[in-house]
Amino acid sequence: MLDILRRIVQEVNNAADIPSALDLMAKRVRDAMGTEVCSIYLLNEEEQRYVLMASEGLKREAVGHVSLGLSEGLVGQVGQREEPINLEDAFSHPKFHYLAETGEDPFHAFLGVPVMHHGQVLGIMVVQQRDVRRFDQSEEAFLVTISAQLSAVIAHAHASGALFAQMDASADLPSFYDGLSGSPGAAIGHGVLLFPAADLASVPDRPITDISAEIALLDDALMRVRQEVRDLAERAAKSLGTEEQALFDVYLRMLDRHALPAEVIAHIRDGQWVQGALRMVVDAHVRNFEMMDDPYLRERAADVKDLGRRLLAHLQSQNRRHIVFPEDCILLGEDISAPMLMEVPRERVRGIVTTRGSRNSHMAIVARAMGIPTVVGVQNLPLKQMDDKEIIVDGFRGRVVANASAELKHQFEEIIAEEASLQAGLEKLRDEPAETADGTRIQLQVNTGLMTDINRSLERGAEGVGLYRTEIPFMVRDRFPSEEEQRVIYREQLSAFAPHPVTMRTLDVGGDKSLTYFPIEEENPFLGWRGIRVTLDHPEIFMVQIRAMLKASEGLDNLRIMLPMVTSVFEAEEAQHLIHRAWLEVRDEGLEVAMPPVGVMIEVPASVYQARALAQRVDFLSVGTNDLTQYLLAVDRNNRQVADLYNSYHPAVLHALLHVVEQAHEEGKTVSVCGEMAGEPGSALLLMAMGYNVLSMNASNLLKVKAAVRQVKVSFIRKLLNEVLAMDNGEVIASYVDLQLEKAGLSDLLRHRKNI
Ligand code: PEP
Ligand code: MG
Repeated sequence: MLDILRRIVQEVNNAADIPSALDLMAKRVRDAMGTEVCSIYLLNEEEQRYVLMASEGLKREAVGHVSLGLSEGLVGQVGQREEPINLEDAFSHPKFHYLAETGEDPFHAFLGVPVMHHGQVLGIMVVQQRDVRRFDQSEEAFLVTISAQLSAVIAHAHASGALFAQMDASADLPSFYDGLSGSPGAAIGHGVLLFPAADLASVPDRPITDISAEIALLDDALMRVRQEVRDLAERAAKSLGTEEQALFDVYLRMLDRHALPAEVIAHIRDGQWVQGALRMVVDAHVRNFEMMDDPYLRERAADVKDLGRRLLAHLQSQNRRHIVFPEDCILLGEDISAPMLMEVPRERVRGIVTTRGSRNSHMAIVARAMGIPTVVGVQNLPLKQMDDKEIIVDGFRGRVVANASAELKHQFEEIIAEEASLQAGLEKLRDEPAETADGTRIQLQVNTGLMTDINRSLERGAEGVGLYRTEIPFMVRDRFPSEEEQRVIYREQLSAFAPHPVTMRTLDVGGDKSLTYFPIEEENPFLGWRGIRVTLDHPEIFMVQIRAMLKASEGLDNLRIMLPMVTSVFEAEEAQHLIHRAWLEVRDEGLEVAMPPVGVMIEVPASVYQARALAQRVDFLSVGTNDLTQYLLAVDRNNRQVADLYNSYHPAVLHALLHVVEQAHEEGKTVSVCGEMAGEPGSALLLMAMGYNVLSMNASNLLKVKAAVRQVKVSFIRKLLNEVLAMDNGEVIASYVDLQLEKAGLSDLLRHRKNI
């Protein structure tokens, strides 16, 4: 049975389109179960009816026309009860509803199972048979299993709305596609598919004899692509900082004659023409990268593909496609590399959507730094159909909408306009203190990574950096940056914000963040070799980084060093010991540098319960609520499947946060929050009420949080905190906080949280 099941799922997944997938599904299930009928009814949400979308055994004409209300007939019963109904004679059931158009008169035995996806009934699968008999347990189990396996296909059909639109050509229903937020913000614009100018996959093998002619063609293409990358880098320098140029250096190094080209030449020497040789090399690298478990390394496949396409485009120069970019581009692609993004004039890019990719892809990092609303990993999005279509990008929720109704579009237009006017209105708060209406002050700092973040942060009046993610400058390179390279990068951060403090986190790789040149392959990376664990095992990497930080701080003295993913006091002590050693070394070199404050991040449950012991040993604590929420709730922060369960208002998270601040203060140490919670007005106010000294967030949220702080009184947020601490449901807490803030006149600041 398992084999049959696997075959059906495979076949259905390979079907050309959704209607054929459903037809195939009905046919294969009927054959596998030896029944006379298999039908699939799908929920049409708009009409609130189950529509017969495919059937083997019922009349063909009925498909797409016959439907049942939500409580109508046995199909409605299955939907309401959300469990199988297995009857030896459907005719004798009081709920049986005869549908003349289907020709179902002769079928007595009935088995219907709901098709469930994320707790929602999407439709019903039914098998029927002439005989009066009950389907046995194994048959029931088979149908339940297949319906669960195929629910993803049906979810796609359901989400795209394409099926129902077919039934009524005039019905152009909105389609919603869910992915992950890559960069917050909303945008409306026209899709521009950045499809490859040249298609490597279609290049055939071709034998050649004139080897040097082929090598000359390659050299010419290489020269042109190198120039293209340099031009892009120059253009990027205007919108990004100089340090981000490293991204382009990686490209140039891949084009170095000893790197990819050397492999291509080897194939040419074996008698393959240049285009075929290029395809072979790119394919091999892409396959290698794509097989890696590590999502970051998988991303690098996109870079190699991009370079391959660029080279091929020059080799086939007559085929170059010139894309016309409208004023309101929503860039679309399977993967969009950072250089591809740079190719489009910034003022034309409203949003970005990719079907693959993750929050940590280069492109997403750059998009966040540039403030472009972005949704990544929208697996179900039919890219080709989106080209030139009007699309809404909801980077707050990680959702894409096509065929939006006039009303929905209007709602988004309002959100975009309100966001813009909100930001414009908030600018006047730039130099105002972050203090409540009754005078309690909190420090608001920013999280940075790229140089580009510096200007955006200063424009918003940040009081320093609460988290500088040093892994980002490491990620945009193809080798470890040297001590001197690091010193230069760090110096730029430190001097831009001086005299405000800059909290530099030591290299935090592992989990979903890794370096191409330092691969970490693990079954379960989030529970593996991450953060401080990696750097304590590699003191040579750690020491270079610390020395670079210390040297960069010379004469500024605004450096703070922070350790990620600490789970025990031993790790903190060990790291402190190394930092002290590095400090002595730097002083021995004759530099007058003060020993910086050292702190630890509280990101795992173990450190919550060690908070006091840790606070005794270090100068400050900072809570990374992104990871803390993930580890407390056992919910992968990047997994769309469980995204609904990832809730930082969960009582366990709130109580842990309260415990940490109390413990730190018992030891007289300051404590901050640098996860996303700090940048969301509702949770930021709760954190302030708990007593957190500093909130550090993405620059785009800083003025919103400041506005929220300035509009409330401490008595109000303390009362709110006490109320939510007594609640036991995270969803209820989130809604309650929103409600109370709306009542307090803060609805403008919460708008993006609302479901549309
Ligand atoms: C966190 O985990 O909350 C945090 C700030 O670190 P990162 O998001 O970089 O893992
Ligand atoms: Mg973290």
